[in-house]
Amino acid sequence: MPVAIWIVWLVSAFVALLGGCARPPASAVAGAEGKTEPMITDQVVKTDEQWRQELTPEQYHVLREKGTERAFAGQYHATKTPGVYLCAACGNEVFSSDAKFDSGTGWPSFSQPQNAGSVAVQHDHSFGMVRTEVHCARCGSHLGHVFDDGPAPTGLRYCINSISLKLRPTDGP
Ligand code: FE
Repeated sequence: MPVAIWIVWLVSAFVALLGGCARPPASAVAGAEGKTEPMITDQVVKTDEQWRQELTPEQYHVLREKGTERAFAGQYHATKTPGVYLCAACGNEVFSSDAKFDSGTGWPSFSQPQNAGSVAVQHDHSFGMVRTEVHCARCGSHLGHVFDDGPAPTGLRYCINSISLKLRPTDGP
């Protein structure tokens, strides 16, 4: 490896180390933020009226108004079918069944997104709580929240509304 690349690598590692030390203790969810490099190039932008026409009232409430479905009430919380979960609003591949685990919460839970750029996150201070909101990186629709109490190796738990997802089974059409 050329010396110049080694130097860049060493400096990058040092900066990353400093950044890690400077973070507050509750920043494990920042791991989710670090995986949200914008990779989506085909952004979906629609008017509120278009979304209202395309989505059911229940989908619209969760996806576009950041609502939350009742625990154990959704379609996918216990689903073990292999496949890819798409954003119900735009069809973006957001999670894989490979990363799905039974969190016991009543919502579909994943340890990581389908890929680094498939979802994005932002801080959510609603309802007096400090949470990290997860949305589709392609269309901006609300999917759920991510917490730092998930399983290894990521330690993340993407707690996602079933109604925000559409499963495309591996053996399906
Ligand atoms: Fe989407």
